[in-house]
Amino acid sequence: MEFTKQFKEYAASIGCDLVGIAPIERFAGLAPERHPASIFPEVKSVIVVGKRIPRGALRGVEEGTQFNTYNCYGYAWLEDRFLSMITVKTAEFLENNKWEAIPMINLPVEMGPMGVPVQPGNPAPNVLIDFDDAAVRAGLGEIGYLRAFVTPQFGARQRFYIILTDAVLDPTPVLKEDLCERSKKFAEYCPLGAIDASNEETIEIAGKKMKVAAIDFKKCAQCKNGAMPNRRHPSGKPDRLAALCMRTYMAHLEKAGRVENKFVNQFRTRPPWVVQGEREIIGEGSDIE
Ligand code: SF4
Repeated sequence: MEFTKQFKEYAASIGCDLVGIAPIERFAGLAPERHPASIFPEVKSVIVVGKRIPRGALRGVEEGTQFNTYNCYGYAWLEDRFLSMITVKTAEFLENNKWEAIPMINLPVEMGPMGVPVQPGNPAPNVLIDFDDAAVRAGLGEIGYLRAFVTPQFGARQRFYIILTDAVLDPTPVLKEDLCERSKKFAEYCPLGAIDASNEETIEIAGKKMKVAAIDFKKCAQCKNGAMPNRRHPSGKPDRLAALCMRTYMAHLEKAGRVENKFVNQFRTRPPWVVQGEREIIGEGSDIE
């Protein structure tokens, strides 16, 4: 549809790296507490917009010499400035074309409701959408073995916001191919033993099945290897995108040729720094093949 093309072209022109569109029907079966239609009953399309985390934003963490760069350009500013501006501008584009558009911030679903239902039949506010779940439904990628979202374009390096709209847009197909090899070896990327490859489960979203390992997020909350607390809410999962596990995973995906965003040089060319955990660190050098 011509309007969908115009919308995507506009989003790209203002720096949006990823756009996925899920028709609301793909959310069938979700609980009202998680359902976009609880927020906007007339919603027809759930748009997931994404901004890449520059690989360079991870460099200071990888070297153990500069953590603020990631905190700003990979985390706080990326979400609160760059991605939030893209989200509101694309929402404005829709409203300039007479479609209501609700820009939504990515809040951890672990927060739970913060109030009581204000009328019979309503879920308690705030209804919280799981953004990774929505991004699968919107065709942007998959949830990898280490429970981080993976896209063909950037691997694990991106963040998402959402726009709900009553515009009917061309859906993005749910990604069929597998991006993550889902190897038990990936559990060895964590020096604290937080990833348990003996305890896997398969999650299914919009017909896409994804095998993931159990992760002890309590250990991640204590991790000094580049993980950061969830800055939205203390009950939210820690931010692991700059942690040793995810940097090693990123280096692996790049080396395996599974990321479209290519670089002249490899990300990891020497052993990463690590605060030693309870098991010996492996994954030194470029990868643990
Ligand atoms: S964040 Fe830290 S503790 Fe958690 S899986 Fe990654 S390296 Fe392990």
